[in-house]
Amino acid sequence: RERALEAVELLPQAPRELAETIRSVPAAAQLCDLVASTMDITAAEKQEVLETFELVRRLDRVLEFLNERLRVMRLTKELGDATRGSLEKRQREALLREQLQTIRKELGEDEEGAADGEELRKQIEAAGMPEEVAEAARKELRRLERMPEAAAEHGMIRSYLDWLIELPWAKETEDRIDVVEARQVLDEDHFDLDKIKQRIIEYLAVRKLAPEGRSPILCFVGPPGVGKTSLGQSIARAMGRKFVRVSLGGVHDESEIRGHRRTYVGALPGNIIQAIRKAGTRNPVMMLDEMDKLGTGFHGDPSAALLEVLDPEQNGTFNDHYLEVDYDLSDVMFITTANSLNMPQPLLDRMEIIRLEGYTEDEKVEIAKRHLLPKVIESHSLKEGEWTVEDSALRDLVRYYTRESGVRSLEREIAKLARKAVREIELKKAT
Ligand code: ADP
Repeated sequence: RERALEAVELLPQAPRELAETIRSVPAAAQLCDLVASTMDITAAEKQEVLETFELVRRLDRVLEFLNERLRVMRLTKELGDATRGSLEKRQREALLREQLQTIRKELGEDEEGAADGEELRKQIEAAGMPEEVAEAARKELRRLERMPEAAAEHGMIRSYLDWLIELPWAKETEDRIDVVEARQVLDEDHFDLDKIKQRIIEYLAVRKLAPEGRSPILCFVGPPGVGKTSLGQSIARAMGRKFVRVSLGGVHDESEIRGHRRTYVGALPGNIIQAIRKAGTRNPVMMLDEMDKLGTGFHGDPSAALLEVLDPEQNGTFNDHYLEVDYDLSDVMFITTANSLNMPQPLLDRMEIIRLEGYTEDEKVEIAKRHLLPKVIESHSLKEGEWTVEDSALRDLVRYYTRESGVRSLEREIAKLARKAVREIELKKAT
């Protein structure tokens, strides 16, 4: 009877009367049957009890079953208590956190978090995002606000929101395409290259007449230092657009172009989106450098991602893995460069190749005189007439000090001379 009552105690769902009944049953035989019938033992086991006629043995058998049940019930209760303990701990923490919040509020320290949220909300609305993107941003913000600042994810969501807010969704420069002025800009920045300049002017003229039309992507191919990058800069300057460069040399992973998923620690958007943020406008001139140095690795083919970037059919909804939302690249003007034509055919098909051969010695001297020298003088803050280099010296530099098709080392050599000149001038001033 004692054991049976203990069992009833441990059963939260047992009816109250059961304990009463167990207490009040007078005869051992009846008690035995009552307990056996209410216990959850199998039918076969119940049958076994029924078939045991001798009372003492029957009582023993029922007691055995009862003890077995009790053992299980005690264990279950212990486990339940343990989980309840940890649950209570969590509830306690939540309660404490809430109290802390109240205390902070009392002290006037709370505003930070809330103000932060408010500020972010304003920034999201002001960023000019497309509605879907704004919705995604608001959702993340709500998650952020529900999260204690110490949580590991807090920083991750915060920097994600920063990325969304800082990307230029609506900000753009207005194109000004004036063919005459563009030619002037190109002439100012570059010596000779007449054919190439003409082609660029044609390209700009077509864009002006049909801004929505599909123009091919220009690809400047040639050895280093022949002016590929600086032509791109001039095009941007002539159109009034921002200029950004993305170097593709050594990129062999799709995620470098398209970003890492946010679940990675330290995940970032790919270099296309990074360049857009750097440009600060949604329609910069983006120069993709060293297309022919693109590698293939184990993690997806970067040239496939690049094809998508360059494809006017697809780049309106460019999907960066980190951003998760689409970004419209269709107003970006892409220009590419390469040292050789060693590129995947599908990429080559997208582009119009413009070759820049190297310069002759005479051309280099002219470039040095008209462009490199004035540039170096300016960047070293040398004054007009303070320092000059004779033509014959320039020729010697070209002939004996550099060995290249372009003029990159030539520019470096001139800069070296300028540094020596600056030192001498300063020394003379000092004595
Ligand atoms: P690339 O991108 O082809 O490697 P860059 O555009 O960086 O070469 O050119 C290297 C330097 O040479 C730049 O300072 C650029 O202005 C100068 N340069 C190259 N070609 C010319 C040119 N035809 N006229 C004036 N400067 C030039």
